[in-house]
Amino acid sequence: MSELSRAAADGFRDFSADVDPCQRAWVEVSPQAIEANAAALCRHLAERSSLMAVVKADGYGHGAVTVARAALKGGATCLGVATLQEGIELRQAAIEAPVLLLGNLTQPEELRSCLDWALMPTLSGMREALLCQNLADGTGRRFPVQLKLDTGMARLGCNWEEGPRLVDAIRQLENLELRGVYSHLACADGDLNGNDAAITAQQNQRFQDVLNHLPRRGRDLCRHLANSAGTLLGHDLHYDMVRVGLALYGHAPAQHLEGVIPLQPALTVKARVTLIRSIRAGVGASYGHRFISERPTRLAVVGIGYADGVVRSLSGKIHALHRGKALPQVGAITMDQLLLDASEAPELDTGSSVTLLGCDGESQISPQDWSSRCDSIPWEILCGFKQRLPRVEI
Ligand SMILES: *Cc1c(COP(=O)(O)O)cnc(C)c1O
Repeated sequence: MSELSRAAADGFRDFSADVDPCQRAWVEVSPQAIEANAAALCRHLAERSSLMAVVKADGYGHGAVTVARAALKGGATCLGVATLQEGIELRQAAIEAPVLLLGNLTQPEELRSCLDWALMPTLSGMREALLCQNLADGTGRRFPVQLKLDTGMARLGCNWEEGPRLVDAIRQLENLELRGVYSHLACADGDLNGNDAAITAQQNQRFQDVLNHLPRRGRDLCRHLANSAGTLLGHDLHYDMVRVGLALYGHAPAQHLEGVIPLQPALTVKARVTLIRSIRAGVGASYGHRFISERPTRLAVVGIGYADGVVRSLSGKIHALHRGKALPQVGAITMDQLLLDASEAPELDTGSSVTLLGCDGESQISPQDWSSRCDSIPWEILCGFKQRLPRVEI
């Protein structure tokens, strides 16, 4: 029986039939999972609050256009990206929803491009506001922009105390259309009872203070503060919109926020076994011989490595799944390949595909499983998968 029909007979879904047989590793993305997560998030939101799907960094590695379409289908009404090029990519794919650039643009050329592509820049002060005012002059159009306030992150945004004055000043610029004011939480995924919760409360208080002191005409602005963690924490952080990345992709930003709403992981990383070999006891494998077999061992060489996004510092700390069975990864992860101990999986064959991250039947390996073992975070793991891995929609 072939590998595929055996897999089908076993009841494990094996999508490798849909995959280019010339690929040795790939990322499977489920638009349905993204859509379901967006819908679950929308149901969870406070009344009158809406969902911005954050699709920066190529949709956290899932493919920005795929994610944007699925999230809009699930109820998101706005998209967030980090860079100008990420915004243009969405427009080139004929996506028409409002797009906010979360990063700061510095060059007049970048801002002009924003205006041309109907992308909303974030302003942190009068410098960018005046640039935008000049750029829109004579175009007959008003430039939609949003103002960012720093309430306790010390990254982008103006000092929160200056918020009311700046809102007023920007509103005086006739070529600008101020659509929103927002801020960003620094510690929302931290401890519920410690300092982190106090910092989140302080940021929320500062944001609230600014909103209370807005000039009367400023009260119709779209106000937003929460990321995934803030969104899952509670309604008092939702305001008019929430900006959700990680949860949209199916992952809770902290252990204590798991299960607040049902989330489905949308990404699976798979790779093919390119060679099976048997080694005797006492044989060193891969660079530095960090693994030495204790017994005769059946090794599977898999065509994926750190140049694909399987972090080298995870060497010897992870496993791969094959039909629900966990196969330990052994030895140093190399640039393009890694080794599995397949002694307990005699059915694993050359050309078989294994799951490095994501679901396989009832078993699952989460980005959190990886990040906790290599001093990272799930966000970094997800956006670490390189372009060398083709994205396949399932
Ligand atoms: C990336 C980003 C988000 C999304 O954060 P998650 O924790 O992934 O939900 C929200 N707001 C801003 C400003 C961001 O840069």
